[in-house]
Amino acid sequence: MLEKEIREVYARHPEILYGFTDLSYCEYADEYASALIMAVPYGEQLTAEDYTEERFEQGIQTARGNLEALVEEIEAVLRQRGVKYWVPPVAQQNETELKALFSFKTAAARAGIGWFGKNDVIITEKYGPRVRLSAILIDAPFEYGQAFTESRCPADCTRCVDICPCKVLKNRLWKAGMDREEIIDYRKCNKMRSAFIPKLGRKNACGKCLAVCPFGQKKTD
Ligand code: SF4
Ligand code: SF4
Repeated sequence: MLEKEIREVYARHPEILYGFTDLSYCEYADEYASALIMAVPYGEQLTAEDYTEERFEQGIQTARGNLEALVEEIEAVLRQRGVKYWVPPVAQQNETELKALFSFKTAAARAGIGWFGKNDVIITEKYGPRVRLSAILIDAPFEYGQAFTESRCPADCTRCVDICPCKVLKNRLWKAGMDREEIIDYRKCNKMRSAFIPKLGRKNACGKCLAVCPFGQKKTD
């Protein structure tokens, strides 16, 4: 059984979070019944105390490598079973809309992996926002996760809002269906990060609004 085989892959990688959602809500519903969403922890789970841009970027790259290997494992199962699937690209389509072909974050909330934080990224109970997401659209039904429909951020937590150097976060608690413009000025955030391309050869990772999040921080006591 396909679902059992996929769950067996994740059983070999217990550090990785995953879940399934149906796709009835989006434009891919005619082609694929479900999406499998996975959240791979960053190589280093940095906090505000040990954050540096370089270490943060390195942690993302480590997660990217782990994620690619995992997706290949799942693809091998799907190919063997002859099931139609598609791995949507991570990259945004263009620098105007700054939207990807398929929103991993919306699917992750629907699959029960986490909720949108005040920093507009998915917050997981285990790692907070320190995860890299990916998805595979699959034309088969699965047992779906329990969707998050509202934020679990404490109403009085403003750590990410306060630390943002560009002041682009609007201190809004997310509810399903909310536009991202209500949470973040994403164009301004992207502009700030893109300004580093001549110097770094890439956007500034700027994970300050992630590093400060109390969810997923290692307990010291
Ligand atoms: S990535 Fe940086 S600029 Fe963008 S919201 Fe987070 S802290 Fe602000
Ligand atoms: S820092 Fe606080 S408000 Fe921001 S995402 Fe984390 S819990 Fe939510």
